[in-house]
Amino acid sequence: MTQKRDYYEILGVAKNAAKPELKKAYRKLAIKYHPDKNPGNKEAENQFKEASEAYSVLNDDNKRGIYDQFGHRGIEGAGHSGPSGFEDIFSSFGDIFEDFFGFGGGSRGRRVQRGSDLRYDLTIDFMEATFGTEKTVSIPKLDTCEECQGSGSAEGSGSETCSHCRGTGQFIQNQGFFKVKTTCPYCQGQGTIISNPCRKCRGAGKVEITRKVLVKIPAGVDSGSKLRLTGEGESAPIPQGTAGDLYVIINVKPHKFFQRDGTDVICAIDISFVQAALGAQITIPTLVGEEQLTIPKATQYGDVFQMRGQGIASLRTHRRGDQIIKVIVKTPTKLNKKQIDLLKQFDKLDSNKISNKLKNLFKNL
Ligand SMILES: [Zn+2]
Ligand SMILES: [Zn+2]
Repeated sequence: MTQKRDYYEILGVAKNAAKPELKKAYRKLAIKYHPDKNPGNKEAENQFKEASEAYSVLNDDNKRGIYDQFGHRGIEGAGHSGPSGFEDIFSSFGDIFEDFFGFGGGSRGRRVQRGSDLRYDLTIDFMEATFGTEKTVSIPKLDTCEECQGSGSAEGSGSETCSHCRGTGQFIQNQGFFKVKTTCPYCQGQGTIISNPCRKCRGAGKVEITRKVLVKIPAGVDSGSKLRLTGEGESAPIPQGTAGDLYVIINVKPHKFFQRDGTDVICAIDISFVQAALGAQITIPTLVGEEQLTIPKATQYGDVFQMRGQGIASLRTHRRGDQIIKVIVKTPTKLNKKQIDLLKQFDKLDSNKISNKLKNLFKNL
């Protein structure tokens, strides 16, 4: 076993430190090394566990006494061990973490009570995503019951203290070293039981409603873009809490002509083999209208042209990408007699015939 550090040293407090001082010291360390702030940092995780263990012992008068007298051996000898994982730490120090971070959980306390976040999947057109739009969406959600203002009890009647948990909202069980808290199932952790429930919400304090929410969609969103509407989620479980957030997940319908690649917009344009050979000025659709594109002579099938700044705006920089035009050279399928004759004449004049090239190729094999 490795040498364990002194608990007082871990928290950086004197041997005679009072409880508020311990809590302050622990709070500082817990915030600094909290796993949410240090994802994947093994050392921070260890520091966090170490500090939690030190605090759990020193904050308990009985255990602190044993530790002061016998050191780590006294604590271990009594059949105790440190918390094995974060789950343990959180359930053991629920109150502290709730104070610090506003964590959820079933218990009551001064922590901020937040409503649930909601998710809404919204499908929009390609052009709406390109230029931004506004959409009104209907969100089914639980909202505070107006009849009872969320109290759940009918007018005039109050609520009484839950007799099962004596109003604490939780049961505390001793499991070895740790006290494990569970939410009281009789009052759902509220600590009170409603004697005469509100008729509209049947005592839940909440009713299901459909709310219309205006979603402003910025130009440049793409499939998978996530918009957060603060406070548009479910209302808080208690009147002084805060509502959750609404997350709108964007899905963009494909476009017939344009495809998207990041901020670039890609399209394919058909040209005739004559245009490809001789060059041409052609009209092509862009996101904002028509533009002229010069096809140089001797253009090949699959050649790519770029129109700068004709793409989609970046969500972050607002700079527009490019339009990429892929050229598809079409071989004519319906030729009249005159065209066929002209092509045959052309063939005779064409010294650089493909068939000759092929003959040479076979010779060299
Ligand atoms: Zn009600
Ligand atoms: Zn209860």
